[in-house]
Amino acid sequence: MAHSLESESRKLLGRLKETLAEDSAGQERLDRITHIIADSMRTEVCSIYLFRDAETLELCATEGLKPEAVHITRMRIGEGLVGRVAKFSRAINTGNAPAEKGFRYMPETGEEIYSSFLGVPIQRLGERMGVLVVQSKEARQFSDDELYALEVVAMVLAEMTELGAFVGEESGLSALHQRPELFRGTSGQEGVAAGHVWLHEPRVVVTNPVADDPAAEKTRLQEAVDQLRVSVDEMLSIASTSDTEQLQVLEAYRMFANSRGWMRRMEEDIDRGLSAEAAVEKEQSVARSRLQTVPDAYLRERLQDLDDLSNRLLRILTGQGNETGAEMPEDPILIARNIGPGELLSYGRKLAGIVLEEGSVGSHAAIVARALAIPLVIHCKRITTEALNGDKILVDGEQGVVHLRPDEQVQKAFMDKIAMQAEAQERYASIRDVPATTKCGTTISLHMNAGLMADLPSLESSGAEGVGLFRTELQFLIRNKVPRRAELAALYGRVMDAAQGKRVAFRTLDIGSDKVLPYMKPNDEPNPALGWRAIRVGLDKSGVLRMQLQALIRGAGGRPLTVMFPFVAQFDEFKTAREYLLRELDREEKLGHTLPSSVEIGAMLETPSLAFAPRQFFEMADFISIGGNDLKQFFFAADRENERVRRRYDTLNVSFLTFIEQIANRCDDTDTPVSFCGEDAGRPVEALCFAAMGLRSLSMRPASVGPIKSLLRSVDLTEVRGVIDESIANGDQSVRPSVLDYLARQGWAF
Ligand code: PEP
Ligand code: MG
Repeated sequence: MAHSLESESRKLLGRLKETLAEDSAGQERLDRITHIIADSMRTEVCSIYLFRDAETLELCATEGLKPEAVHITRMRIGEGLVGRVAKFSRAINTGNAPAEKGFRYMPETGEEIYSSFLGVPIQRLGERMGVLVVQSKEARQFSDDELYALEVVAMVLAEMTELGAFVGEESGLSALHQRPELFRGTSGQEGVAAGHVWLHEPRVVVTNPVADDPAAEKTRLQEAVDQLRVSVDEMLSIASTSDTEQLQVLEAYRMFANSRGWMRRMEEDIDRGLSAEAAVEKEQSVARSRLQTVPDAYLRERLQDLDDLSNRLLRILTGQGNETGAEMPEDPILIARNIGPGELLSYGRKLAGIVLEEGSVGSHAAIVARALAIPLVIHCKRITTEALNGDKILVDGEQGVVHLRPDEQVQKAFMDKIAMQAEAQERYASIRDVPATTKCGTTISLHMNAGLMADLPSLESSGAEGVGLFRTELQFLIRNKVPRRAELAALYGRVMDAAQGKRVAFRTLDIGSDKVLPYMKPNDEPNPALGWRAIRVGLDKSGVLRMQLQALIRGAGGRPLTVMFPFVAQFDEFKTAREYLLRELDREEKLGHTLPSSVEIGAMLETPSLAFAPRQFFEMADFISIGGNDLKQFFFAADRENERVRRRYDTLNVSFLTFIEQIANRCDDTDTPVSFCGEDAGRPVEALCFAAMGLRSLSMRPASVGPIKSLLRSVDLTEVRGVIDESIANGDQSVRPSVLDYLARQGWAF
């Protein structure tokens, strides 16, 4: 790059820095800046468009276009060339703007006489802030150097916007991160919470985007990168060699940390007048906008690695660690792009709610959030860039909605909702110790699902009769290596202690599919949900299964033990798994360990095939537990993790209900106790219909026990059954409308 261009660019940034230092109002600053840029780039026009809300851009200052268009001309993201620059986070450089795809004529601006157009996004770490445009009459394409110079200027504008340099009285110039914002995500765990933002990774603030001494900045950058390399090498040296995924990420970190291309681009940015941290951010912003458009999953992951590395580098350069000295609010709502189950557990029950930008319903973090009964909303785009530590925030885990910095009206409506729920909780507490007996005299036993020690206190408070499903995989998921037998035995023992004699059905390890252990070699399977998972892994690699069974026997220490095997698809699998347990009991006895006083061995019915297993299977199983989450996905062939299809088929679809009834009947024939432990058991209308179809035992999240008991105690199951039968006879697809109608007549609204 020519030396003169560099120094010109530095001069321009120097002039921008001066306007930042001046004590002037936001609009004045913007006007001056457009003038300086047009002057320096020798263009007739320079305009700055800033986002007015997430969807709308507004012309906030211009040199060259009609001044009366300022704060009047607006476009939606994607509309016109300016809107397209913002939408795709990519520059548009053309000598013939009207001929360019997406061009839209804005008559009030008087821009028709300008033929060439160069627009670049104003963005910071993935947050879109606006668009910077220069235009000129001469029909020519701008050079790469000019494009680069404008990008550098845009980076400085982004930092200035972030610092609030353009805040003013004018309507388009409200400060960032102050407006109320509504986010629509996906529900990960029900429940509502009001609190204050606690960022898992606090934002880095760059106060010095422009620097005068490039040599000094390059030295700072070099020193920071050296420090980064050392820390990556250190991480590599202590990483477990069996953890291939972690090693892969760290190797990618090392590759980037040593990448000449990355370093060279940042040094060029510094030559143009950016400070070291602004240069890192500029390259990070480019990588982030690419991240959004790259279809290849592997490449996306690598860009994600580069993003993480840039964050580390920024923290080194600014000295702003994760520890900012900020105090965690009393009612923290955790905001993160994504979070691992271990990290989430370390926050524990302190959190009032969780909002993630990514995540999935079946992710480990979601499982932990569910276990801790913390409202969770996932897929909340932009939340990490929009929220600031301490912002007021309301999380509606039922609707998957988040209100950031809500206005008073929204707050009031939300608080009313919370109060109503609290009132209902009080009502449920009053029936905690009575059985769920319906008006027609049928008693349904209600149990809870659990997976952590932390769940056990809910056994008492919810009024559940026992733990119908204890998911043992959480203990495996949150560790870096396979837990030891003694560790597990102690844990299972503590779970039984806490249950105080109530029955706990321990499900043996259910891994594979979405639950991949961090220390297990990931298997590249085309359809993991139909793949090598749960009991299939247990039987093929029986070492871990046997170790777990020994731990369960030892944990029981003479008390009754209940074990169930997950994802059994045929009789044989159950028989073999059961034999393993019987053999381990034998072996433990020979080793002198106390045996459980009684042992119940059950199977989870999660594949339709098992419903058609021979009678002998039902006779052999001490009990059956219907894993409705999996059973439903296989019954309808609709992936439970796929947002597009997961809600497509109603649980109260006549086919599915009839199938549940058939299972209940088969179990009845052999007197095999049967329970339903999928998420649907925790939904009142679904639970009621299951009971009407013949199920007498349900296992659910603890918070559902009260509402379901309250509903069951108020209804006559024979009547509900009548409504269902009539709906089936009418040829309805789902019995839901009829049942809801019936319940409404009884005074229930769902
Ligand atoms: C189920 O499939 O319904 C179940 C309870 O198991 P999980 O959700 O753990 O797969
Ligand atoms: Mg399952």
